[in-house]
Amino acid sequence: ICYSCFDLREVVKESVDDYAIVFEEQGITCDLQLPKARWPVLGDAHQLKQVFINLLVNAQEAMPHGGVLRMSLSRGDTEKPSAVIVLRDSGGGIPEGSLTSIFTPFFTTKQRGTGLGLPIVNRIIQNHGGVITACNYQGGAEFRIVLPLAESSD
Ligand code: ADP
Ligand code: MG
Repeated sequence: ICYSCFDLREVVKESVDDYAIVFEEQGITCDLQLPKARWPVLGDAHQLKQVFINLLVNAQEAMPHGGVLRMSLSRGDTEKPSAVIVLRDSGGGIPEGSLTSIFTPFFTTKQRGTGLGLPIVNRIIQNHGGVITACNYQGGAEFRIVLPLAESSD
């Protein structure tokens, strides 16, 4: 674990950039909305990148014939400064009966899934004092992360 203060926008941007070619090849459009100002997070940038990569991989797997992934970074309405990261894909969504199980280790609905992606994501977010939740939105899956920021960025 390597703690430092870094710009959350950069980690998000790097993760999406790493995945751009894969998305393009699969006909997935990625609509990324980032704020203009620097958003400082105290934590492990490498681990947080792993979070976004895991979520991007799941989105890619949910849209084998292409689609749209919307990802945005906005301010949380918490008392202390926080960031809200929302990912919405246009895949089939999470089966209703599975919504409560997806963060459980080894739970997978995929033939070759490990069921470890979301438990790892959940653990990393919790270690950073944050919370991740999942739901379905307009037929696709939505993942929402609330993450404390190191200081006010207003
Ligand atoms: P794996 O990807 O190996 O199955 P994960 O922990 O990453 O394991 O995900 C667990 C399960 O959550 C998946 O098998 C799938 O059922 C569901 N899931 C995760 N992300 C999505 C998504 N974007 N759309 C639909 N279902 C999803
Ligand atoms: Mg996965």
